[in-house]
Order: sequence, then C-alpha cells, then structure tokens
Amino acid sequence: MDDLATYAENTWCPGCGNFGILNAFKKAVRQLESEGVSRRDIVITAGIGCHAKIFDYLRLSGFYSLHGRSMATAQGMKLANPRLKVVAFAGDGDAYGEGLAHMVFAAKRNADITVIVHNNGTYGLTTGQYTPTSVKGFRGPSTPEGSVEDPFNPLGLMLSAGATFVARGYPVKLDHLSGLFAAAIRHEGFSIVDVLQPCVSFNNTYSLYNGLVTELEVVPDSFEDAMGAARRTDRLLIGVLRDVEKEPFHKALMGDFVPAKERATDKRRSRAIAALVG
Ligand code: SF4
Repeated sequence: MDDLATYAENTWCPGCGNFGILNAFKKAVRQLESEGVSRRDIVITAGIGCHAKIFDYLRLSGFYSLHGRSMATAQGMKLANPRLKVVAFAGDGDAYGEGLAHMVFAAKRNADITVIVHNNGTYGLTTGQYTPTSVKGFRGPSTPEGSVEDPFNPLGLMLSAGATFVARGYPVKLDHLSGLFAAAIRHEGFSIVDVLQPCVSFNNTYSLYNGLVTELEVVPDSFEDAMGAARRTDRLLIGVLRDVEKEPFHKALMGDFVPAKERATDKRRSRAIAALVG
C-alpha cells in the first residue's frame, strides 16, 4: 500500500511528465525518512495549474496557495516554523511568470525553502498558452502564429539571483530526479529543481529531451561554470549545477527563535520593531 497516496482521483493526462515528478518526490520523502526526517516535518504548498494537483495526491501536510504565490506561501510557512522542511511546487507560469518576483527575492535572501518547478513550457490546464519558458515560435491559443519571444533561461536566472542550490531534472530519469529532490530538501537555504516536464497534450517534448538530456557528472566548480552549464543548448544538462553554503534568511533574521513554539516577549518585539524602523 502507498501510504503517501490520497483518496483523490488522478486526472493528469496519461503519459504526463507529472507522474514521474510525483513518484520521484514520494521516493525522496521515503529516502529522507530513512535518514531520520519525520514526514510530519515535510510540508508542501502549490500554485495553480496542472502541477498543483500534486498537492491533492500527496498525503502530507500543507497549504494550497494561489497562482504564482506558492513561493511566498512557503517562505511564510518557514518563518512561522523554521523546524519544518518546506516544499513549494510551481508551474513554469507560476514560477517564472506570475510569481517571478517571489522567486528572485526568495533566492536573493536565501529563504530556506525548496521550489520544484514543473517546467512544461505551456499553460496546460488552460489548454496550451505560451509561458515564459516556451520556445520561440510556440503555437497555442494565445500565439496562433507562433510566439515571437525568446524563452527565459530559468537556471541562469536563479543563479544570477543568488540561489545557493540549483538543479535540473527529467522525470524519465526517475531515480536521478528523486536524488535531486532529496538533496534540495536537505540543503539549508534556497533550493530550486527545475524539472523538464513533457506535457503530452500541448507540448510533447519527450523525443526532444530524450535526445538532448545528459547527466552532469560533477557539480561545476564555480559560478561561471554553473552558468555555462545552464546556458548549454547542444545538450540539456541535468543534475546539480550549484550547491554552496550561506546563512539562510530565517537564521539571519531570528536566530534560533521558533515563532510557532514561543511567543516573542514585549521586549523582543520592541527590539525587532526598532531594528526595522531604524
Ligand atoms: Fe500533464 Fe499537459 Fe495533461 Fe496538464 S495538460 S495533465 S501538463 S499532459
């Protein structure tokens, strides 16, 4: 019996890359449990879109968020209870469109959350409009003649914003993807796993990705090398591109204070307010 499954009927299209993400994530949760992490301490949130149904399919605690806001919700959850491991699921529209500012600032401040982006290059739930990661020429209901824009390079963007853990995965390589999820959740600080997720109904990229996806053998040594790996187009490199240590936001802000457990004293509140207003 799958004790991470829920009663919810799965309505993803047969063959959707989201199935691989779901199974890889469950495997990562079990791996972390084997290392002593309680699943009660792993909490999730999601935006809006096909990706967000994963929230319904996982028997984990969490909070369903709004379009583009799962990263903001995750940061609030982490600040309220820093002992939790908080995972935000997002689509490419959520993460790199509606919620882009949340992504950039979460990376900038090294918020200790994990963002898993189901990057399928289209708004699948609303029948295939173009998104910030759609390829130039992408045809959909909002770009019937083909998109004239170049796509974002999400990994380059996150590296530039200061993300301390940046990875890319592919659901067909399920064990590899699961390892990336576990590593991202273990990482103390902002971690992102951008998942190349084929959408069989509106952007079927399986053949393209099967030909281009290549596993990185080692984590690049420097920021420049990570950026070079993110920018390659002759190969789509999967694996960890960046993994560096830096004090996470909640520790810099609150030290070891756990708001969910202790109420701040009047004195502490006054000191915090004084520090904020200078
Ligand atoms: Fe998956 Fe695309 Fe179907 Fe949505 S529309 S469930 S992303 S295949």
